[in-house]
Amino acid sequence: MKIQDIPNEIVREVLTEEQIENKLDEIAKQIDKDYEGKELLLIGVLGGAVMCMADLSRRISSPLEIDWIAISTYGQGTTSTGVIRILKDLYTDIKNRHVLIVEDILDSGLTLSWLKSNLTSRGPASVEIFTLLQKPDARKIEVEAKYVGFDIPNEFVIGYGLDYAQKYRNLRSIAVLHPDVYTQKS
Ligand code: 5GP
Ligand code: MG
Repeated sequence: MKIQDIPNEIVREVLTEEQIENKLDEIAKQIDKDYEGKELLLIGVLGGAVMCMADLSRRISSPLEIDWIAISTYGQGTTSTGVIRILKDLYTDIKNRHVLIVEDILDSGLTLSWLKSNLTSRGPASVEIFTLLQKPDARKIEVEAKYVGFDIPNEFVIGYGLDYAQKYRNLRSIAVLHPDVYTQKS
């Protein structure tokens, strides 16, 4: 799906397909350098990171493995302590592995901060974070992502894996969702 297919539902395009592709090329090259001689385990956070995982992992030349984790977040927004629960855990034992978390967006930071410490407690050789997007103005908790695609303003975006009510994940680019969509009955 392209933005021309849903003109009334978006405010503006934030990132084109081409911008995303070029950025992933760049970051994949950097990852190849940084992990030379090491075997990488990519851990994707379901389901927003599916597109990032598909497109980033295929650009990496080194051998790697892929696993997935699904988590749910409660108490976000008004509270400062996100309560997080694992819905689907990893298949892989990550002890002594070089882990790179693959995430779509770093917003308050609560999810990735929790996930990083959860994975760290399992004894990996290293844990780093890739996030395609981050909203610096929304950060509530310090989390360091080693690889960041783009900084974006504090607005709700959809597309390229990111959803609103499970929709728009198949949009090829990333766009700001029109606020009318939240208030319309679905
Ligand atoms: P955090 O714990 O950093 O506040 O939130 C991260 C999660 O919130 C992301 O993985 C994503 O699921 C969701 N999220 C945060 N900002 C946005 C956004 O602008 N659009 C969408 N679709 N999801 C978002
Ligand atoms: Mg996510």
